[in-house]
Amino acid sequence: ADALRTPSPVSFRVNKAKWDGPDGEHVSWCANGYYLPERPAFTFDPLHHAGCYYVQEASSMLLEQAVIASGLDRERIIALDLCAAPGGKSTHLRSLLHTDALLVANEIDRKRHVILQENLWKWGATNTVVTNSAPKQFERLPELFDLIVVDAPCSGEGMFRKDAFAREQWNESLVEQCVAMQRDALTFAWESLKPGGVLIYSTCTWEVAENEAQVVRLVELGGTCIPIPTDPSWGVVRSARLGVDALRCYPHRVKGEGFFIAAVRKPGERTPARKTDARADESDGPTKWLRATRPWITLEEGDELFATDATWGDTLQRIRAALNVVSPGIPLAERKANEWRPHTALALAEDLDPSRFARVPLNMEEALSYLRGNALSAAAAQGIALATFQGVGLGWLQGAGNRWNNRWPAPWRIRSQHPNAPRVSWSQAH
Ligand code: SAM
Repeated sequence: ADALRTPSPVSFRVNKAKWDGPDGEHVSWCANGYYLPERPAFTFDPLHHAGCYYVQEASSMLLEQAVIASGLDRERIIALDLCAAPGGKSTHLRSLLHTDALLVANEIDRKRHVILQENLWKWGATNTVVTNSAPKQFERLPELFDLIVVDAPCSGEGMFRKDAFAREQWNESLVEQCVAMQRDALTFAWESLKPGGVLIYSTCTWEVAENEAQVVRLVELGGTCIPIPTDPSWGVVRSARLGVDALRCYPHRVKGEGFFIAAVRKPGERTPARKTDARADESDGPTKWLRATRPWITLEEGDELFATDATWGDTLQRIRAALNVVSPGIPLAERKANEWRPHTALALAEDLDPSRFARVPLNMEEALSYLRGNALSAAAAQGIALATFQGVGLGWLQGAGNRWNNRWPAPWRIRSQHPNAPRVSWSQAH
């Protein structure tokens, strides 16, 4: 009770593919996780918009220890994040998994999948597919995935300090509803998991019915709990309730909120993910905007063109036939007057080849003005150029002589006007 009256710790995870990150207090169980002494206005930091870090509650970063314990972080696997929005676990998985691994980030909710897509586009990683499907639709993909994360909707007791709404909405029937949703999600996830594959289950609540009791069902189906390592100094509690090996976080013991996590291996021998023997797209099309890190093929979805690793070609066809795929790879181009022009999110992609475009470095004031949707004045602006901030790609500019027109998407614009809001410490230095 005393802990619930103290302020919630502020933490974030750095995207090392884009940014080295600041010096500061580390989250002990997450290599790229950091704490801040107080909550700044992240919205006024261009690096936040550029996907250089993700603001995330520290206890949930324990996912890292579970993925490492699974032993699947170094292989070319197919992973699924079944309940993925807004994208905390998916962006984390993307940093933990091998760059050749394919990640399917799924969210059932029609509105929430849009923010999931935005966050993954900003994170910029390759081999990432965003889908908007119900867990039941995964019945069509039996035994496909090597690793599945089910970060289930829950009664949210672990969020009582951070989120007043979690306290208001709690009641016993909410717990029952959540138990039913979790059971469903786990049933379909288990069918979609390969023999020998690993399912990581987490919630931000303490109810045994929503936690250990759900894991027991998987053990009854033949699953074996994988012990997730902890260090006594972290304050994380090992639970053995109902005979399950799992971890629990409490706000009076860890520097973080309430959380539960367990990892279960499905019985059987795991077979490696299939490799499509496909030829790369060799046309002079938009794939030339990508670095030649892998054999690229393109997929059209409406007026958008996506690029993906050709070796995942067959798997992607299967996924597209079974699920509602909204982003099948790197967003490469958008159709404009019968031509492909660079996609908004390509500017943020790790595999963008920046040498293909003129670059316009922005200072802090210009970057914030750009993120508000304003045009920038120029001497002789022509064609399409990449706006960068501290060397990181941000978005596109369209030359119009004495100004650069703005192509930062309207829904992503900064709207808040708080000139005196506390800035992040690293942006004050610039
Ligand atoms: N993994 C996310 C992250 O780390 O940012 C948080 C996921 S949140 C705890 C649970 C998600 O499950 C929500 O986005 C919610 O929309 C989704 N959800 C709600 N009902 C569901 C259901 N019946 N089956 C699967 N997912 C559901």
